Amino acid sequence: MGQIVDSNGKPIVFGEVSGKQQEVFECSVCKVRTQHGLVQNGPTFKAKVNTGTDKKPVDVEFPRVHYIYRCCGCQTDTYFLIQQQHTFRVSSPGISQNATWPTMVLHRYPRAIPEAHDVLPKGIKQNLLEAETCLAAGAPNAAGTMARRAVDEIARLHKATGKDLYNRLENLRSVGLVSKELIDIAHQIRSAGRNGAHAEWQELTMDQARNALFLLKEMIREIYITPAERKQRLQSLTKLKKKP
Ligand SMILES: [Zn+2]
Repeated sequence: MGQIVDSNGKPIVFGEVSGKQQEVFECSVCKVRTQHGLVQNGPTFKAKVNTGTDKKPVDVEFPRVHYIYRCCGCQTDTYFLIQQQHTFRVSSPGISQNATWPTMVLHRYPRAIPEAHDVLPKGIKQNLLEAETCLAAGAPNAAGTMARRAVDEIARLHKATGKDLYNRLENLRSVGLVSKELIDIAHQIRSAGRNGAHAEWQELTMDQARNALFLLKEMIREIYITPAERKQRLQSLTKLKKKP
């Protein structure tokens, strides 16, 4: 099987897809490269593809396969429709030669995720990525600890004062920079991080760590991403003018 490219011809790192039990690729939920186990693959079937032009169509039958892979971290399934590499004969007057089309991902769901949002401060992006890497590696206590660290970074960037994170969050609440609801969420993530970091507290389960990360991402979205996107959209509307 040859190199795998997307519909724009850009290579996709997907490993061998010839029915291997384990593949490593970027999970749409974990947002890092994780091990994926093959859950199911359909039988190879043939699909007609026009390899000529609209004016002069040349139909060739390509082998295609459906695959479902499950992420070892978040247990999310990703579906792939793969068109396998195929060599066929191309004939035009005076010429007859072989052509090979590479293996292609025709469809993937969920889609490969975009990069972390540009508006996120570097420290938060880094903590979030590290938390997700821990989760993907099956380390819930470490993931919870990193999620707490991200909350602390948010507090620091908002210039919160206080001797510990509890007090810094309460300081944020009192100045009203962050909504009351988000502060309550932040306290829950703080607790998850405390449990993750200290042996005298109950260990976090994968489910709890996953929920802590999900809530952290909601916080980040509300504090940083939504306002930035709103500003951008409003700017586009303020450009509306009367016809000259
Ligand atoms: Zn995952």
